[in-house]
Amino acid sequence: MSKMKSQKLFIKTLGCQMNDTDSVHIAEELKKHKNYNVTTSIEEADLIIINTCSVRDKPVQKLFSELGQFRSKKKKGAKIGVCGCTASHLGKDIIKRAPYIDFVLGARNISKIKDVIDVKGAVEISIDNDESTYDFASSHTSRFKTNINISIGCDKECAYCIVPATRGKEISIPPEMIIEQIKKDVQSGVVEVMLLGQNVNSYGRRFSDKRQKTSFTKLLQEISLIEGLERIRFTSPHPLHMDDEFIEEFSTNPKIAKCIHIPLQSGSSKILKVMKRGYSKEWFLNRVEKIKNKVPNVRITTDIIVGFPSESHEDFLDTIDVMKKVKFDQIYNFKYSPRPNTSALKLEDKAIDDKTSSNRLTQVIELHKTHQVELMHSNIDKIVDVLFENLKANGEVSGFTDNLCQVFVKGSDELLGKIVKVKIISASRTSLKAEVLKL
Ligand code: SF4
Repeated sequence: MSKMKSQKLFIKTLGCQMNDTDSVHIAEELKKHKNYNVTTSIEEADLIIINTCSVRDKPVQKLFSELGQFRSKKKKGAKIGVCGCTASHLGKDIIKRAPYIDFVLGARNISKIKDVIDVKGAVEISIDNDESTYDFASSHTSRFKTNINISIGCDKECAYCIVPATRGKEISIPPEMIIEQIKKDVQSGVVEVMLLGQNVNSYGRRFSDKRQKTSFTKLLQEISLIEGLERIRFTSPHPLHMDDEFIEEFSTNPKIAKCIHIPLQSGSSKILKVMKRGYSKEWFLNRVEKIKNKVPNVRITTDIIVGFPSESHEDFLDTIDVMKKVKFDQIYNFKYSPRPNTSALKLEDKAIDDKTSSNRLTQVIELHKTHQVELMHSNIDKIVDVLFENLKANGEVSGFTDNLCQVFVKGSDELLGKIVKVKIISASRTSLKAEVLKL
């Protein structure tokens, strides 16, 4: 490595946790093969990368103004590259619109970063490239936590979603590679892992080496045997694949953290059908009820889209009805945003006007706030386990409960990396205050 001059990389990440992990992989690949080290200063950087998101139109529109900013701030000779989902679907059009861009690398071509950075005008965006067995570096999100991809791509065809067109078909990463990676991370002090995939609970249906199929439940069982690993989290499961075996494992396995993201999208069975989600309002409520019966302190988060084409007032009231029945702890809510390469584009004649969509979004947000206050306050006086991760400047230490509530206590760095019993003394809509019971 001494031969190669050390250079500086500035990387900006938009979008989801998979993009966060991809950005860590990009940085680690460039460190290993090209001796780049990450800097937080655009002006200092020899290479500037933006890892993009295409799930809605807004981040795509923002991209070109962002690139303009990079161009004006960069030092002489510094390169600019565009990666991620927008790179996958816009490809060479990015260079056409911004000729000062040096390369474009799609979300399924991360392992090729070392090959494209020195090729002016390189465009690598194949969504058939198989990186499921590529040995990427660890993606620690803190000293005690790590993110691990368990699959790439998605086989679903949700009518509003651009992901299959930017990340390609679903391939599972071999379980032995996942286990090996987690073991290595645990040796370096990690106690919590987040398993990532577009559809984690359809894991094991296809491997690139045509080995025998397996299941997400089996993978969870294997991972929970790793000594020193305390907590297992995962995102995003699909409600359709929440079979009883999975719910049983989720409920009874002590290492699986009791917070689950179940993307609803709409509460109307009619709209779910048009969205090609594959399940109904009744199935969704049945799965939630089953989980809540087995895990009373479970926290449930979700995604909701309002204003999907043909969504009537009654359809919207179905979404509100599901919210009232479930009382979600966290909701990622959006107005429908038409995306290229999606089947929903054919429904434009049934589009919902923006004023109505905004009004529905406001109703979802306001109702959710009332549920959050109620749910967070129900934690007061409870005794819970918290994994402490951060020491704040104000002397507080923060961490998360098993079911993903953020908790603040008075304490010192002695708490960091430990799972400690605390008593909840007060609550706000988004976090809790507690006192440490015993170390
Ligand atoms: S499951 Fe549906 S919403 Fe999720 S990534 Fe796949 S196509 Fe998109």
